[in-house]
Amino acid sequence: MSESSQSRPVKVTVTGAAGNIAYSLLWRIASGDVFGKDVPVELALLEIPAATRAAEGVAMELGDSAFPLLCGITVTDSADTAFDGANAAFLVGAKPRGKGMERADLLAENGRIFGPQGKAIGEHAASDIKVVVVGNPANTNALIAAHHAQDVPAERFTALMRLDHNRALSQLAQKLDCQVGDLSRVAVWGNHSATQFPDLTFAEVAGSPVDVDQSWYTDEFIPRVAKRGAEIIDVRGSSSAASAASAAVDHMRDWVQGSDGWATAAVVSDGSYGVDEGLIAGFPTIARDGRYEIVQGLELSDFQRQRIEASVAELRAEREAVGDLLG
Ligand code: NDP
Repeated sequence: MSESSQSRPVKVTVTGAAGNIAYSLLWRIASGDVFGKDVPVELALLEIPAATRAAEGVAMELGDSAFPLLCGITVTDSADTAFDGANAAFLVGAKPRGKGMERADLLAENGRIFGPQGKAIGEHAASDIKVVVVGNPANTNALIAAHHAQDVPAERFTALMRLDHNRALSQLAQKLDCQVGDLSRVAVWGNHSATQFPDLTFAEVAGSPVDVDQSWYTDEFIPRVAKRGAEIIDVRGSSSAASAASAAVDHMRDWVQGSDGWATAAVVSDGSYGVDEGLIAGFPTIARDGRYEIVQGLELSDFQRQRIEASVAELRAEREAVGDLLG
């Protein structure tokens, strides 16, 4: 393709660039899986100082992959540099829970990472910036980043719940002995944690309502999807990385290019379905025209309301725990 017929490069920032998820994610971005097969990408890799050398190694390997769409790579430990002119950001790097660390400590430690990153996004990113937070606790990290990003609309900050969505699709397809592509209207509500509610109430297979027995749904499906991360660690011996990266690709691709029906994304609540306004929670969404829109007008049963409320209560408690970072 001649240079003049190519689109303008999209600038993409990935944090935690030397980590496991990024090691899969960066290759998918550079190959055109997110922004399109004719859209050049310029990557900015952000790492903590102790890991910038490893990130340089990742950049060397990306170069060695000779992606025709990859037109530049920057490695830095400066958030201001990494987010300068960014059109899209994957916030993957986060502080893992250490031995004996309470959830409140984890929230606070991560708040100290995501607050400054949000500030840098507000000051330096492009006006069309789209952010997906992968690093846990993802929903509340996204809330903190959004709060610190002055003049960036809160709807530009989202958290990854597409992996939960994909896990739900995979489990249901196995149960029904069908293809994942036959399934639609599946969603995961709430927090990216064990309280999440993978919801099959509206699910369809090849356009017809899904019919599964209630005990499989409540006793096997919901806990299995919600605790799939632990199951992967147990079987694989280390935490999921490629599937998380793949879900992040799905999330950003749909946001940019539009979704094929329902998808799950954690987006800022407008108060729909009793989810407190301002919380970043998983909803059934449809992506179109560069926006994630919450699916409106669904009639919820008492069972659904209770499950959603349990997860929203956890999000509320997380928001309270980091209240001093949101002041
Ligand atoms: P990973 O790349 O495996 O994971 C990164 C983050 O993604 C973790 O918070 C992890 O949460 C989260 N995550 C979300 N969904 C999933 C999922 N389904 N499966 C697994 N993880 C998930 O971590 P690494 O330790 O390999 O790499 C992290 C990198 O981030 C390190 O290189 C570190 O130096 C860097 N870092 C960078 C920062 C920055 O750029 N400023 C700040 C802090 C760290 P969980 O811990 O719950 O598994």
